[in-house]
Amino acid sequence: MADHYEVLGVARDASPDEIKRAYRRLARELHPDVNPGAEASERFKEVTHAYDVLSDPQQRQQYDLGGSNGFSQAGFGGFGDIFETFFGGGQAQRGPRSRKERGEDALLRVEVDLDEVIFGTHRDIEVDTAVLCETCHGSCCQPGTAPVTCDICHGTGQIQRVARSLLGNVMTSSPCGTCRGYGTVIATPCVTCQGQGRVRARRTVSVDIPAGVETGLRLQMPGSGEVGQAGGPNGDLYLEIKVRHHDVFSRNGDDLLCTLEVPMTDAILGTTTTVHALDGDVDLELKPGTQSGEVITIRDRGVTKLRGSGRGDLRVGIQVITPTRLDHRERQLIKEFAAGRKQHGPQLGTYQQGLFAKLRDRFLG
Ligand code: ZN
Repeated sequence: MADHYEVLGVARDASPDEIKRAYRRLARELHPDVNPGAEASERFKEVTHAYDVLSDPQQRQQYDLGGSNGFSQAGFGGFGDIFETFFGGGQAQRGPRSRKERGEDALLRVEVDLDEVIFGTHRDIEVDTAVLCETCHGSCCQPGTAPVTCDICHGTGQIQRVARSLLGNVMTSSPCGTCRGYGTVIATPCVTCQGQGRVRARRTVSVDIPAGVETGLRLQMPGSGEVGQAGGPNGDLYLEIKVRHHDVFSRNGDDLLCTLEVPMTDAILGTTTTVHALDGDVDLELKPGTQSGEVITIRDRGVTKLRGSGRGDLRVGIQVITPTRLDHRERQLIKEFAAGRKQHGPQLGTYQQGLFAKLRDRFLG
């Protein structure tokens, strides 16, 4: 094989610029598009190959030292891209793409109880995710090795081709198939991660779930998703909240709702009672003559507000229970009671769209 310097007609100590100019001059003369002859084609390949080797500092050094043929041979076959470098007409060269990619976002569903919502809670959540490979720390290479410049695209990650069209020669560019557009090739991939720079793992994520969350709310935890390929930035973790149904308490915004069944006699005479709320006991005083449908509001015993400060209220809807299955004596007492009172019978009135009716609607909904 002819000497690469002779082929290009440059001195052995030619600068990269001189080598480039020489190649450009010869390529203009010999490119198959310009000069279709078989001889020219052979010379063009030779010139291109020579340029290929001498334009890469690493390969040139190897060549000067009488280095392996195999090395420079590997660079063969890619003259289209070199040609493009000169004749692309100022077309912007896209650089090689990075191996580092941002990791995937992840979505997890978390169920919390209503009592946890009042003040917020904490969870340690097991996540199936991708973490940085401990062996190569994201380099994707076996320790002690490094990626090498791709012989085919010379590190550009792109292969250019000349396509003829009615409008003349059109330059097309596509990712290099050898390095998949990275511009470098990993000859010895890390065995731990198969050259991905990350491995699957179970990780525990500590989450503070704020007070006042509602079903369907998504909490974003930036950077808690999967680590990216080749140690690229982490994706985000999203936690979608589901607040479990509670048998007694329900929720309307930041307020907690419940009903209290009150025996008729307690409603008439009044009493004190203790409501076991989600955050502790609440003493309630029922005034004599308490009516069904009344709502007793206990301030600041609802859910802590997610936005803003303070808490909602606890609203207790009263339902007076009319006794059934009276025994003979009870029936007599009630009759005597009724006879002693001057009262008129049932009376027609407007449908009561009171607070309790709304409460009940919400319970049913
Ligand atoms: Zn690895």
